[in-house]
Amino acid sequence: MDALVALCKRRGFIFPGSDIYGGLAGTWDYGPLGVMLKNNVKKLWWKRFVEDRDDMFGVDAAILMNPRAWEASGHVGGFADPMVECKKCNSRFRADQIGSQSKDDKSWKLPDACLNCKAKGAWAPVAQFNMMFKTHVGASQDSASVSYLRPETAQGMFVNFKNVLDTQHPKLPFGMAQIGKAFRNEIAPRDFLFRSREFEQMEIEYFVNPKAWEKTFEHFLEQMHGFIADVGLTKAKVSDFEVAKEDLAHYSKRTIDIEFEYPFGKKELYGLAYRTDFDLKQHSEFSKVDLSYYDEESKERFIPHCIEPSFGVDRTVLAALTDAYTEDSLGGEGEKRVYLRLSPNIAPYRVAVFPLLRNKPALVEKAREVYKNLKKVIPNVDFDDNGNIGKRYRRQDEIGTPYCVTVDFDTVEKGTGVTVRDRDTGKQERVKIEELVGYLRLGK
Ligand code: ATP
Repeated sequence: MDALVALCKRRGFIFPGSDIYGGLAGTWDYGPLGVMLKNNVKKLWWKRFVEDRDDMFGVDAAILMNPRAWEASGHVGGFADPMVECKKCNSRFRADQIGSQSKDDKSWKLPDACLNCKAKGAWAPVAQFNMMFKTHVGASQDSASVSYLRPETAQGMFVNFKNVLDTQHPKLPFGMAQIGKAFRNEIAPRDFLFRSREFEQMEIEYFVNPKAWEKTFEHFLEQMHGFIADVGLTKAKVSDFEVAKEDLAHYSKRTIDIEFEYPFGKKELYGLAYRTDFDLKQHSEFSKVDLSYYDEESKERFIPHCIEPSFGVDRTVLAALTDAYTEDSLGGEGEKRVYLRLSPNIAPYRVAVFPLLRNKPALVEKAREVYKNLKKVIPNVDFDDNGNIGKRYRRQDEIGTPYCVTVDFDTVEKGTGVTVRDRDTGKQERVKIEELVGYLRLGK
């Protein structure tokens, strides 16, 4: 992990948030290459789940919402983690991460000593800590102005259910999809992007007749694995974890966590939940707006039930980066090489174009032409004429570019095409310029 975090900083993928001020715990800033990678993940998701379907409606709701929405959803009352504080050094920990709770009398078993200052028997009682970031809307600071930064994107879709119904007139089943920021005041942010206080989610609320929930749940489980394959994660590192009935969230009748084998252990990547009619019912009650649906075929009026596939953008980026990070001996002369084996579907640059030598105008001109023409078809193409060719390969390997195209003397003098080097094998082949796009097989 340390090597990956260092690579991310060195190559401009991800920096600690507010870096020049010493950082801010639980925040990360994406640099130029990180933004490209993250945007590719989001584009891939939006294509599969929105553009390629005719039953999905995109929304982009406000991050600040009427606080009543968070009362209705249960977040004001219950979006909390158990927290324990050391009375000696005031360090705070998540009780469920450092200890365990008895199923019978709900008492907590904690380590003897504080994990920070090693003081024994210094734990304060375990308390519930609400993870929503509170803020004030408008100039006054009274309780009437309190609002929250959303801890999930989901509620922005439930509160727009009627707007979508009234403007798009969809028939059940249909879904709403949204990509956006979410904020949680995590007690112990950790493991790089895995648990941060500001992150991005890609969520779907898919509305069905309650009779169809099981079939829809299975459909989305399969779709989620399809997306994971598109991202290119190693299949053997991904598994489904069925959440036990007694551990289900208050709104859920069934939840599967899709887990990924991160370097720090097997942890949740995505979640799939059957939320029943809980949210629409709650929002109906709290807003006094009817959120029912009239089914013309069965002549029934009911509150639709909801299946929610929920994806973390940053956990996807982290899974892809940890999975892709590889060291081998291709560096030459016993030198190790570091490269990112990213899928072409998400790699920041899908291909890089070089002139063999930067001081030969004929090579540079031809390389620029090849670059411009490729860019018309493939948006993320890099042009690189810095340093020698070996250095350029090393740089492109480290940022995960699947192919490097080099314009050399044979290209301009004999018209025999360009060389294409494969990132993973280091092998080079000569390819005719007009066959380049077909050869590169750049996936989705
Ligand atoms: P965890 O149990 O790991 O805290 P969760 O079950 O609370 O996660 P959900 O509420 O289901 O997570 O959120 C949906 C998705 O949002 C998660 O599957 C994950 O990908 C992402 N996510 C949740 N919390 C964080 C966080 N603090 N940092 C980064 N991503 C997160």
